[in-house]
Amino acid sequence: MASLQDAVVKGLASDKGLFMPETIKPLPKEFFDTIETLSFREIACRVADAFFGEDVPADTLKDIVYDTLSFDAPLVRVTDRIYSLELFHGPTLAFKDVGGRFMARLLGYFIRKQGQKDVDVLVATSGDTGSAVANGFLGVEGVHVYVLYPKGKVSEIQEKQFTTLGRNITALEVDGTFDDCQALVKSAFMDKELNERLLLTSANSINVARFLPQAFYYFHAYAQLKKLGKADRVVACVPSGNFGNITAGLFGKYMGLPIGRFIAANNKNDIFYQYLQTGVYTPRPAVATIANAMDVGDPSNFARVLDLYGNSHEAIAAEISGAAYTDEQISETLKNVYTDTGYLLDPHGACGYRALEEGLKPGETGVFLETAHPAKFFETVESIIGDKVEIPARLKAFMKAEKKSFPMTKAFEDFKRYLLIRATALGFKV
Ligand SMILES: *Cc1c(COP(=O)(O)O)cnc(C)c1O
Repeated sequence: MASLQDAVVKGLASDKGLFMPETIKPLPKEFFDTIETLSFREIACRVADAFFGEDVPADTLKDIVYDTLSFDAPLVRVTDRIYSLELFHGPTLAFKDVGGRFMARLLGYFIRKQGQKDVDVLVATSGDTGSAVANGFLGVEGVHVYVLYPKGKVSEIQEKQFTTLGRNITALEVDGTFDDCQALVKSAFMDKELNERLLLTSANSINVARFLPQAFYYFHAYAQLKKLGKADRVVACVPSGNFGNITAGLFGKYMGLPIGRFIAANNKNDIFYQYLQTGVYTPRPAVATIANAMDVGDPSNFARVLDLYGNSHEAIAAEISGAAYTDEQISETLKNVYTDTGYLLDPHGACGYRALEEGLKPGETGVFLETAHPAKFFETVESIIGDKVEIPARLKAFMKAEKKSFPMTKAFEDFKRYLLIRATALGFKV
């Protein structure tokens, strides 16, 4: 069995499988009885303790949680029965900020504790993951982050969020596709020489330190609904791509969180939806949509969902239902909700909202995770609503900063040479 430290520092198990917590501690009934009196940070401390408390001292864990949650996640009423849990008030205005920051701080702690090698974090991104990880790791000592992204294939606003930071963050602009970026990262993890000379880790949502903290949201959503007297039959709906976010929610339920059921909302990449209908999992290449952070053709956390439910399709389908929407349906929902209620969804949240609108049963209250600020997709959103989207100051500041990136080919030999030369030049690890 691996320690938490191994799981966090290595990311992937040595057989290239995913780490799963061996036991998941349920939280006591008293916690849920008074959860509505606790703050987001207090709730998160209790949940973090259940996951990580055996490996990390309580005061350290509290520091990490408080540092991670420097912003709120308000619950906003959209209709009588549908609430939005806004997860976009962090540094890059999307929910991955929490996992990115938490992982950075936990990894920083383990590195100091080991008192040895520095760690290189490799992350391939099609846009949003890179910015959340880069901002989370900014200034964390002992860690250098390499963000690999496909040249010309991420939006300007996304690119600016990881190419303007400097310090311990390096952006590599790869002359290729997102799949090429991912292949470079995978090859690096498999390369014997690189792994002898460098301590490499992954910051994609396969890392337990990145995906488990996302469970905080679900406890917090429940607490806020309970305060409103709406917590009797809660349905949590999650716009899903790699299924890290929803898996964290399923862990929460496993720990006793009284959420009745889950809905996984997909765009046209409906691999999970098809699995629910047929019992057969058939990955296929992703297609591009306007909810592009969910353009995933082989969700990497599907294996964890299977494991959590003992590989039973029946058990999975009893607690999770699915929905899948075309770009036209996403646009229509975004526009209608804006016109009817004044609430501005982003394209990912629009999938979540619609799945609740179509799927809620009498007596149920729905909460969807609003995973990104609509301004992150302002071109798409403005063209749908025919109106201007207000850009938050934080995003404007990124837009003004100067882009710095290093060009890279998609040939692994070039990437490898680059990493080795840097390691030598920085004077450690060799
Ligand atoms: C990453 C992302 C998702 C999908 O989350 P998964 O954990 O990969 O399922 C949804 N919406 C936005 C805005 C994202 O960035």
